[in-house]
This record gives sequence, structure tokens and C-alpha cells, in this order.
Amino acid sequence: MQRRGLAVRMRFVADLSQCLFDFVIQLLPTAEEMAVKEDVRKLLERLIRTIEPDSRLLSFGSTANGFSLRNSDMDLCCLIDSKERLAATDLVTMLGDLLERETKFHVKPLPHARIPIVKLSLDPSPGLPLGIACDIGFENRLALENTRLLMCYAMIDPTRVRTMVLFLKVWSKRRKINSPYKGTLSSYGYVLLVIYFLVHVKNPPVLPNLQQMPPLRPITTEDTHLAGYNTWFFDDIELLRQRWHSDNTETVAELLIDFFRYYSRDFPYNTGVASIRTGLLKKELKGWQNDLSGGRYNDSRERNRLCIEDPFETDYNVARCVTKDGLYTIRGEFMRAARVLSTRPERAIIALAELCE
Ligand code: ATP
Ligand code: MG
Repeated sequence: MQRRGLAVRMRFVADLSQCLFDFVIQLLPTAEEMAVKEDVRKLLERLIRTIEPDSRLLSFGSTANGFSLRNSDMDLCCLIDSKERLAATDLVTMLGDLLERETKFHVKPLPHARIPIVKLSLDPSPGLPLGIACDIGFENRLALENTRLLMCYAMIDPTRVRTMVLFLKVWSKRRKINSPYKGTLSSYGYVLLVIYFLVHVKNPPVLPNLQQMPPLRPITTEDTHLAGYNTWFFDDIELLRQRWHSDNTETVAELLIDFFRYYSRDFPYNTGVASIRTGLLKKELKGWQNDLSGGRYNDSRERNRLCIEDPFETDYNVARCVTKDGLYTIRGEFMRAARVLSTRPERAIIALAELCE
């Protein structure tokens, strides 16, 4: 009887892996969507150069790190290579006016936001049936680097890492726990939770720690630091593939089930900080205890319920927007997912549908 139960479970897990691949593949952006987005980037770059001739417009976030889903927004970063450049607030205002005059975008310049950006959106068209949403920021070089870091992690084990991340992005959006503005976690936060789990929780690890590997040649602080933060990581993925391989042979379904179990039961939310650079850290050591007094943020919301250290800006909690209620909901969803995957052993496809309903 017990052996039969085990066989059923093993078949469920194998089916679930296949269902996960099939599920995420149909949600990937089409080649046409990617081409339209690239055209949009080039058009915007050409227009920005009429204001700042020495500028480049680069993609970051999911469009650039391999974790893009159909109709993902576009995150763009404008880099200006000349020393004499306009202040970001002026540039945002001027660019907003220009784009309003010259394009069909709906334009919303936010020159006085903490990080000045221009928000754009485009109505649906045949190439983009759901339209497009895009944010243009300025000089955000750390975001370009963290995008590159996530892309390198995805490249080490594309099948397992990309499938897990893409599934969790869809799942968190469908379950409505992917809105920093409403007190839950950004996609970037979920991706960091996955990488933390694969580098530091799984034993043997699925991924190496790219930020702690020995460099191939001596490096200086000048080479590695950006805005005062150490942004070095081992990025020669071809070489890494030759020299490093994971002894972890778990399937994507096994990893996902364990991911939900770990974050519903084992992660020490009250005291711990998930750091992909260092492993599990203590809130106390980082000065990230729940801050009810206002503190740095000077408002009554609690900023450190969930703590995820940014890989480069190590004094920055990526999950600072997660509220008490938000974390309660997120943990509830992790528990629900762990339960659905452990108590629906008949059909993987039904479990997956229930998980995302
Ligand atoms: P989606 O497809 O849902 O837009 P994404 O992979 O683009 O997902 P986002 O959450 O939009 O992820 O993040 C895009 C980029 O913005 C990240 O690579 C990161 O550089 C930056 N970013 C987003 N959220 C945060 C945050 N809370 N703290 C710091 N940087 C963030
Ligand atoms: Mg994005």
C-alpha cells in the first residue's frame, strides 16, 4: 500500500514538472512582441538623443534578464555618457513634453518622484494586443547590474531556474500578491527569494554563489564598485559551465514544492534576512528590526516585516514595501500552494490550475 502511494507521488511529481514547462512556455512573449518592444526602445532612444546627444537607452528588468512573460512591462534606463548633463528632473520634464508632441504614447512625467521617471503606455495594436507599459529612468546603473546578475543565474541552469521563476511570477500575479504599492512583493523580490533558495537553502545547492566565487584575475575596487557598492560577480558563464556543476538532481516540481514548504514553514520571518550574497543574516545585525517608530522612513508603516537584502545595495531591503497584512497574505499563499501540491496527488494539471485560480 505504502509502495503504491509512493509510486503515485512519483508520477505526480514527474507530471507536474512537464505541466510546469508546458504552462510557462505558452506564456513566453512571442518573437513579434519582442521585435515591437525593440523597435519602441530604438524609437525612444532616437528621440532622447535630440535632447541629450550622448545618451543610450538600455533595457533592464525582465525584458533583459530572461524572465519576461507575455505583455511584461518594459523597464528602460537612460545613460548619459557626457559629463555635462541635464539634471534628471529637467530631463524628465523635457522628455515628457517631447514624447507627448512626437509620439502616440500616453505620457506621465514624474520629475519629483524619489527616482524621477517618465511613465509611458501605448494602446493595443496587432503586434501588441494588450498595448505596452514602459518606465524610463535615468542613470540607474545598479539596476542594469542586478539585471545582469539575475540573467547569469538564469543561464547557469535555464530549465530549472527559468521555469521556477516564470511560474512564480505568474502565480504571484494571479494570486494578487505581486504589488509593492498594495503592500506585497515585486517580481524582483520573488526572483531573489528563488535564487536565495537555490543557492543557500538547497543542499546540495542548485546554483553557485556568483558573488563569492574567486575572480579569475586580480581585481581592484575601482573595477568593482559602483556608487560605493561592490557590484562584482563571476560572469563568465561559459567557463563556469565547464568548471562547476550542481550535484542536485531534483526536478523542477520537487524544487517548487520544497520552495513553497520552506517559505511557508521554515524561513525565519521574524528574525532573518534573505541575502543572496551572504546567506541567512540576522535582522538585528543589519539594524532592520520592525520599525514602528518611523525611523528612516518617517511614517507609521512597518518597513522590515519581510527582509530581502539587495545583492549590491546591501543596506537596502527590497521587500521594504511589504506590510504586516501583505506578509500575512503572502505566507498564507505559500501555505495554500504547499497544501495544494501535497494533497492533490491525482492529476498534476488540476493541481496547477487550482494553484493559479
Ligand atoms: P515584471 O515582468 O513583473 O515587470 P521584472 O523582472 O521586470 O518583472 P520588476 O519587479 O519590474 O521585475 O523589477 C525590474 C527591475 O527594477 C529589477 O531588475 C530591479 O533592478 C528593479 N527593482 C524592482 N523592484 C525593486 C525593489 N523593490 N528594489 C530595488 N530594485 C527594484
Ligand atoms: Mg519589469
